[in-house]
Amino acid sequence: MGFNFSVQKQLPGRLGRSGVITTPHGQIKTPAFIPVGTKATLKSVLPESITDLGAQAVLANAYHLYLQPGAEIIDQAGGLANFMNWQGPTFTDSGGFQVLSLGVGFKKVIAMDENTFQADDVIADDKERLAHVDDDGVTFKSHVDGSLHRFTPEVSMQVQHQIGADIIFAFDECTTLHNSRGYQEQALERTRLWAIRCLAEHDRLTKDRADKPYQALFGVLQGAQYEDLRRKAAQDLSKMKVHGVGFDGFGVGGALDKQTLGDILRWVNEELPADKPRHFLGIGEPDDLFVGVENGADTFDCVAPSRQARTSSVFTKDGRVNISNAPHKNEFFPIEKDCTCYTCRNYTRAYLCHLFRSKEMLAATLATIHNQHFIVGLVDQMRKGIEDGTFFEFKDQFMARYYKK
Ligand SMILES: [Zn+2]
Repeated sequence: MGFNFSVQKQLPGRLGRSGVITTPHGQIKTPAFIPVGTKATLKSVLPESITDLGAQAVLANAYHLYLQPGAEIIDQAGGLANFMNWQGPTFTDSGGFQVLSLGVGFKKVIAMDENTFQADDVIADDKERLAHVDDDGVTFKSHVDGSLHRFTPEVSMQVQHQIGADIIFAFDECTTLHNSRGYQEQALERTRLWAIRCLAEHDRLTKDRADKPYQALFGVLQGAQYEDLRRKAAQDLSKMKVHGVGFDGFGVGGALDKQTLGDILRWVNEELPADKPRHFLGIGEPDDLFVGVENGADTFDCVAPSRQARTSSVFTKDGRVNISNAPHKNEFFPIEKDCTCYTCRNYTRAYLCHLFRSKEMLAATLATIHNQHFIVGLVDQMRKGIEDGTFFEFKDQFMARYYKK
């Protein structure tokens, strides 16, 4: 079984649509939220619970898995899905974002090019610069043990083929909104040239490893907040072919913020072919997800729902709630009364409050299950809305309640 995408229904007057992505490990009904399992685990949650909470796929990170346990170990295990005992589709992101973010914590604040060092240097004062980019690739220090490594487009493809996820991403240079226009242009051209090298290496590896399940390669669109750059990136990557092989889909990434993400998605999706799936990298807030779906994104991933859960911040239809706060100490009802997740079916707010306050491990597990179920379920409802014509009604209703202060 190979890779396929079919559009089912179009959102009237918008770029949004519902569809189905078929991979060797199963189907993903889109739009869909894909929980992040950075190191081949959705932190604190059993694989059975991932299925149970409604997730259709998991996204892991090539950079982290390359460092630990090493991509060859995952290859020996029969690929990511086998290794982590997750029987559904998987994604890996290329490692570009993580590698380039080294030394500045996370967040999209990165810039590295010796020539534009001053104008574009946004590294935090107390951090050492751990990554340097040149036209051929990126040299970086491992955040685990400080050892020196180098990622090129070819290495990223080799690592992602060994990890063996169903959907993989081209190696790109992720910039920030703080970079100068000149730097964005340079970085975009570098990313375009890297995309060609990714396609060539992907093609070689696909033929070399013909006994393995087919892996779909998505091109990554950069260009920050500039309409002309974003449209150019989309045009370049949708036309791009090496040995007759083009990208199976596209990832929209990089420098963007709440104010511009809808426009950026619209610009690129007006240029991209409608019959290829589009992944929006790193988006997970309810309002951003609505904007994303409306503007034609098919899949999303984000670490936020899990990260927030671990800090006791849980989603409700009335906004996020810090469940460890005193008022919840004696609330003997679930986080959400009508939520169908395992946590809400079995546990009270009072119990979660107690677990967080006493720093019990189960706190993270129960809160993560609820938060992931909430966000995965929210995007599922958007899909249903597209299919039965109630998307805008649902959006208005949800937004009015969630963001009411
Ligand atoms: Zn729940």
